[in-house]
Amino acid sequence: MIKFEDVTKFYPGQETAALRNINLEIDKGEFVFLVGQSGSGKSTFLRLILREYRPTKGNLYVAGKNLATLNQWKVPQLRRQMGMVFQDFRLLPGKTVYENVAFALQVIGKPNKLIRRIVPETLELVGLAGKGDRLGEELSGGEQQRVAIARAFVNRPKILIADEPTGNLDPETSVGIMKLLDRINRTETTVIMATHDASIVDQMRRRVLELRNGELVRDQSKGIYGTA
Ligand code: ADP
Ligand code: ADP
Repeated sequence: MIKFEDVTKFYPGQETAALRNINLEIDKGEFVFLVGQSGSGKSTFLRLILREYRPTKGNLYVAGKNLATLNQWKVPQLRRQMGMVFQDFRLLPGKTVYENVAFALQVIGKPNKLIRRIVPETLELVGLAGKGDRLGEELSGGEQQRVAIARAFVNRPKILIADEPTGNLDPETSVGIMKLLDRINRTETTVIMATHDASIVDQMRRRVLELRNGELVRDQSKGIYGTA
């Protein structure tokens, strides 16, 4: 599903690489934690997969395409195969739960009939059945993150990318969010999650990739957080 081939990324004007000589593969349906201190390169790793940047060197294959050479006009098509979840939820202000999720389908031109069927199904899947009419800002943090996950997943992406999705949530709420991501992963969706949440990583025991100063220093199956 994803293959890094000697990927290096320099930001313009920087003398040290944000990522250096990364080689790894992530298969369809894997659940991968990305750990490492602030500045170790986690966001850069995710943003390369999203094709927000191109690698400075090397090849990066995502869903069969080499992002190093992919034409810019094909980027929207690539992104439709990915869902994205953030630490700060990023719901649309002033919109209902239903509208937040429906919007993700409207922007890619899905017919209203399909939207009216799929959105309630997806809200049920994430545990928000009956909350479609609530405004995003009226909800608890955990519920807002469920809306964000529903929005990211409603188009059934191949890859779900989560950047610190439990970073603003208390431990109990975080466990609920992880159960949901686990359920999504069981539908063969590849999940890549950057996190500083040691207890979550230690409970889930999934593959762990650790970055340090832009280098991959650990690739551990059924791993632990274990970073200094
Ligand atoms: P993390 O997500 O692990 O905190 P990042 O990928 O954001 O790490 O950062 C990796 C390195 O790249 C850091 O040294 C950071 O300062 C640098 N960096 C990140 N974004 C930019 C940018 N837009 N321009 C220049 N340097 C950047
Ligand atoms: P359209 O008029 O474009 O066909 P819809 O009939 O899907 O749009 O929806 C009209 C409005 O009703 C939208 O603002 C939508 O958010 C809301 N809506 C539709 N279905 C539901 C639902 N099951 N729960 C909550 N709100 C809904």
